[in-house]
Amino acid sequence: MQHFPVFLDMDHARVVIGGGGEIALAKLRLLLKTRAEITLCAAQFDPEIEALRPRVTLVRRPLLGCDLHGARLVYAATGDADQDARIAGLGRRAGVLVNIVDNLEASDFITPAIVDRAPLVIAIGTEGAAPVLARKIKAQLEAALPASLGVLARIGKGFRQMAEALPMGAARRNFWAEYYDTSGPRALEAGGEAQVQQTLDDLLAKHLVQKAPEGWVDFVSAGPGDPDLMTLKARKLLDRADVVIYDRLVSPEILELARREAQMISVGKEGFGPSTPQAEIHRLMIDHAAQGAHVVRLKGGDASVFGRLDEETEALDRADIRWTVVPGVTAASAAAASIGQSLTARGRNQTLRLVTAHDVKGYADQDWRALAAPGAITAIYMGKRAARFVQGRLLMHGAQAQMPVTLVENASRTDQRIVASTLAQLPEDAAALPGPVIILLGLAARSASQIPVLQEQAQ
Ligand code: SAH
Repeated sequence: MQHFPVFLDMDHARVVIGGGGEIALAKLRLLLKTRAEITLCAAQFDPEIEALRPRVTLVRRPLLGCDLHGARLVYAATGDADQDARIAGLGRRAGVLVNIVDNLEASDFITPAIVDRAPLVIAIGTEGAAPVLARKIKAQLEAALPASLGVLARIGKGFRQMAEALPMGAARRNFWAEYYDTSGPRALEAGGEAQVQQTLDDLLAKHLVQKAPEGWVDFVSAGPGDPDLMTLKARKLLDRADVVIYDRLVSPEILELARREAQMISVGKEGFGPSTPQAEIHRLMIDHAAQGAHVVRLKGGDASVFGRLDEETEALDRADIRWTVVPGVTAASAAAASIGQSLTARGRNQTLRLVTAHDVKGYADQDWRALAAPGAITAIYMGKRAARFVQGRLLMHGAQAQMPVTLVENASRTDQRIVASTLAQLPEDAAALPGPVIILLGLAARSASQIPVLQEQAQ
């Protein structure tokens, strides 16, 4: 992030614009949303700018250093590169932040695309990389956010102190959620601002007599890594959680989706690698839920696949804490999708095995003969370290050394790697991949021409 977003207090701040034409006007329109004291300096002014007097001050000559006295921002908006550079120089000398319109490199700050539902304001920036994308996101947000939101936020802001009568945390949050989601919009539509005020009073009275909310735990499947592969339900719950307890396999992009105020607790678990002791995870979930928190226990892939879900739900049952499970995309599904393959196929395999290479006692035993049979399809989780053991068992039970094997590392993530391998090569290929890997036994990529498969490691 080269540009750090901040919201600048513009009440009575002095802003100077060098320029009097279309370019200056475009910036002026944005700045007029604030209460800044705006001065424009130019030899001539567009009639539309002239008409804005006395809201803006016009100085009928090119900008000089003395115009910048006490200014917070200066825009070089003359449309003439030399003039703009001269203004930027004056700005720097005066210690004022400079924006040269359409010249990101030479500017101290840039103006984002803005969705204005003041006091709710959303600023969108792409650091100049993709203005089209910013415009698209702006259009989507404009469509998604009703205009009434600004009014509700303004009235809500005036009520914040009153709402402090509610205990901090879930109680207060539920109050505001009900206001913005249902009661507020309804009241505004039915009776305008006065009714919204009344509704806030009524709503507060109602929430004040409500019992402290009961905490619970949602086991949420985060999917294999790509945030687009999360369910809508998972996103919704993450957006509401008070506490998120997550494993190491959950990608940073997904953690970003959690509510800003949520307490994020890493329990660093990956398969059977170094981890927070299971009992400690149970204790964390129970303690937070008992205090009334909505806990999201976020697990990679599908929570019910090699995620020790049962141990955790049983612990909650013993503590009498409610829980739900939200299913998701398991790594094997993402891996199969990445090579365009079906995990089952008529006439090839009627059974699909999801196996873990480890169990509590060490390397896990399997029905090796079934795994080695022609046409058998198996997805192995946590299989990297056990790859040689798996290879040995399969060969011993009649598998062909040339049995196709595909390794998918970081399935669905931007750093996904697909390695076309064989049973003969499996241990070496697996050892070469540092990230989480799904081993697909019996499956080769459907079309090497469409899917970037790393062949060289298989040779
Ligand atoms: N509940 C998870 C599995 C947890 S066990 C799920 O349903 O996917 C951890 C193992 O899952 C890892 O060792 C690896 O074998 C596999 N895994 C998880 N995410 C993966 C990913 N994005 N790419 C490849 N393998 C992954």
